[in-house]
Amino acid sequence: MMTADKPGLYIHIPFCRSKCPYCDFYSFTADEATKEEYTASIIKNIIIWQAETGAEFSTVYFGGGTPSQLGSENLSKIIKAINKQPDCEVTVECNPFDLSESWSADDMLRLADSGANRISMGMQSAIENERKALGRKAGREQVEKAVKLIKQSGIDNFSLDLMLGIPYQTVDTIKESIAFCTESGAKHVSSYLLKIEQGTPFEKVEKLLDLPDEDGCCEMYLAACEELEKQGYKQYEISNFAVPGFESRHNLIYWDCREYLGIGAAAHSFFGGKRFYYPSDVQQFISGVKPVDDGEGGSFEEYVMLRLRLTEGLTNSGCMKRFGHDIPKEMLEKASINEKHGLLKADESGIRLNPKGFLVSNAIIADLLS
Ligand code: SF4
Repeated sequence: MMTADKPGLYIHIPFCRSKCPYCDFYSFTADEATKEEYTASIIKNIIIWQAETGAEFSTVYFGGGTPSQLGSENLSKIIKAINKQPDCEVTVECNPFDLSESWSADDMLRLADSGANRISMGMQSAIENERKALGRKAGREQVEKAVKLIKQSGIDNFSLDLMLGIPYQTVDTIKESIAFCTESGAKHVSSYLLKIEQGTPFEKVEKLLDLPDEDGCCEMYLAACEELEKQGYKQYEISNFAVPGFESRHNLIYWDCREYLGIGAAAHSFFGGKRFYYPSDVQQFISGVKPVDDGEGGSFEEYVMLRLRLTEGLTNSGCMKRFGHDIPKEMLEKASINEKHGLLKADESGIRLNPKGFLVSNAIIADLLS
């Protein structure tokens, strides 16, 4: 699995075309003037951080919100302002509706020419009524059009998001969506279970949504893991699967508890040994607000929690390299009890959860750290 030593750079773009009924992220619709001002502030912050720290980044990730809402010119201007190492992975999250309806082939080429080399697209499902139930505007045809645009630009590394446990979904329709990913040539699939968040429209109508129960969701997750493996997507994290060699290098920085700088309203950082974040307020960000201190980062507990999300797991060699000691004996003893329940593998090299274990990972991690 490829890793990187230099920090990653996360850029938060909190703009969306409209609000999805299940989403509680900091995002809203914005006019062009606000997008221009926000772009200028992002660039200003990047330049200041780079001048102060001399940082060069191994990965860049535009997340949101919907970064494609910023438009290719603004995104390209930002990418060009970044000190990137030569093989820097540059990912841009895109909405299929934006790409198919608002972006031209030239827009996508401009993005690729500026250095973007990976696209992550929020498809959620290849099935029309499932996508409609999630309030997603793009139909299958638009997703296909967006995929074509990405490929025409020469970017062959793209990821599709799939959501599990959504209205109308069955194990068979999950397999259909996975088949769509394979046929479209996606190199990576992120597959998340729908979570009903407080204060969202979905929370208000949860009982009417006819969602699968907990057992149904577990069945869907395990079926998705199995089918994705069958289709050549190797699981490397609880919710992430890739054709070998196409794992998200940026997200691996998070899960390996390495450093990254986050710029933009609501962006979080672990940089220079500290955790900090910008407030969730675009106008404050544009006005030059400083990030809020969030304490020290990179403790052993944090490292354990993050590493156990990976199929590579928590390894003795990793602990030794990072903290100068092996996995504590008591932790291995507790892990061996969970191993008897078929949730993980624990041996002299480390602790690795399997898909059944990932379903109860919070409880396992709490137990190992208690
Ligand atoms: S596009 Fe993504 S960030 Fe925007 S509202 Fe929908 S789920 Fe939330």
